[in-house]
Formats: sequence, C-alpha cells, structure tokens
Amino acid sequence: MSSMTREDILRELELLPTWQLRAPLKVLDVPATIAEEVLPVSAPTVPVVAEPVVLSNQAGPVDTSSGRAVQIDQMDWQALQQCVQECQACGLAKARTQTVFGVGDINADWLFVGEAPGEEEDSQGEPFVGQAGKLLDNMMASIQLKRRENVYIANVLKCRPPENRDPHAEEVRQCAPFLKRQVALIKPKLIVALGKFAAQSLLQTNDSIASLRGRLHDYQGVPVIVTYHPAHLLRDMADKAKAWEDLCFAKNTMQGLNITQSPPQ
Ligand code: URA
Repeated sequence: MSSMTREDILRELELLPTWQLRAPLKVLDVPATIAEEVLPVSAPTVPVVAEPVVLSNQAGPVDTSSGRAVQIDQMDWQALQQCVQECQACGLAKARTQTVFGVGDINADWLFVGEAPGEEEDSQGEPFVGQAGKLLDNMMASIQLKRRENVYIANVLKCRPPENRDPHAEEVRQCAPFLKRQVALIKPKLIVALGKFAAQSLLQTNDSIASLRGRLHDYQGVPVIVTYHPAHLLRDMADKAKAWEDLCFAKNTMQGLNITQSPPQ
C-alpha cells in the first residue's frame, strides 16, 4: 500500500480523471459549539476494572440504561475487549466464529464505523478485510489515513449476522454499549459512519444516506460525517464520486477542528 501514489489510489477508487483535487483543501470554519463538544470527553470517574466483573452478558431484555450498560460504561479497554469476546447477549453469539472488536490506533483522531462483520471478518477477527475492506483502505489512504496507524476501525455489531443479513434491532441494542464505550475511550475527534446502517444506528434516525451526507452530526459529543459503505461503492460507480466529496469534507472538518483546538500562539 505504501508504494501506491495518490494517483494510484484515486484510480483504484475510479475517481480519475474527473475527481482530482485542484486546490488545497479549504479549512472549514467549525462552529464553536461543535469544537467545544469535541474537546476530550472527561475521563471515566470510575476506576479501571481490575477484577472480572459479574456481568449479565446473557441474552435477555437489556437496554442501555440497564446495569449491564452501566458496567460497560465503566470498563477500561482490556475489560471491554474481554467482555465483547465473551458476550452471549444476543443470538449472534451462537453462530459466530469469533467476535470482531476493531482494529487500529486506540488514540486515533479518526474513527470509521461500519455495520457488522461479514464472513471473512468473522473468520479473521478483524473488520473490513474483504473486498470492501480493500476499498476502505484505499479511501482512507486518499486522505492520508492508514489501517493500524492513525485511524481506528470498528463496527456497530461485533458478531456476524448469519448469511450477512441485516442486523436486528435487538442485536443493535445489545451491542450499542460496546461501541459507545469504544468511542469514550478512543476519544476520536471525528467519526465517519460507513453506510446507512451505521449512520442510522449512531444517529438514531431513519433518514436516508442522501439526506444525512454533507452535514456534521453528533454522536456522544463527537462530530459524525456520513458516507456510503464501501460494499455499496463496489456496486455503484456513481456514488464513488460522492464518497470522495464526503472524504474531502471529513478531511476539511478535521483540519478545522485541529486549528480550532490548537492553543493560541
Ligand atoms: N462490512 C462492514 O460493515 N464491516 C466489516 O467489518 C466488513 C464488511
């Protein structure tokens, strides 16, 4: 990957020759309210979980205000990983090969969120390792991001839905506290939601991708930008150009956030 030029990447995204940046990215004026919101989330007030917690990680009617969600909200990274690995809270646990927690720099400014592991992710234990993952890597490279280096990648669901069917509402409900805690611990400056499902789950809306794109949203105080899922882009050429716009918007937004947050000289 590192030997790929920017042109190679844009060609891979099928964005050449039309979609080349002709001018440097314009720094967006990030509204002060959003800039304030993304200032580091306060550290957890509860100490690191040193001992195994007795957790109702079993199937049952649990919502985000339950004891389980509250306990997850207090976990450190290691406890969270273990909790996900052992999770039996919904039916997906029975069919999975393994859970897929996420990959990347846990201190990254960027967090990309997809839907759920597919077959290859379920077998390798890492998000976005199939064809869609290759495209995602190229999309990220086009804005100087690299898997395992300066970005974290996670999914809404940590287990593969059988036959890659759409996730069920109850599965999302049980898994949501895990992503919420990942976000609180990573403290990304910006989240990129990949596809309708990730966007709708994070933003708690039924709005279409088309209506969500091109605007800044909010998840737990972190700005969110919505774009198409790479699997969709593999099928729909026309939307690749829109995804490139979204990536430029995301890059611009991050530049604006960095300027707003840097201390005065
Ligand atoms: N699609 C997703 O949304 N996530 C993955 O990890 C793989 C494919």
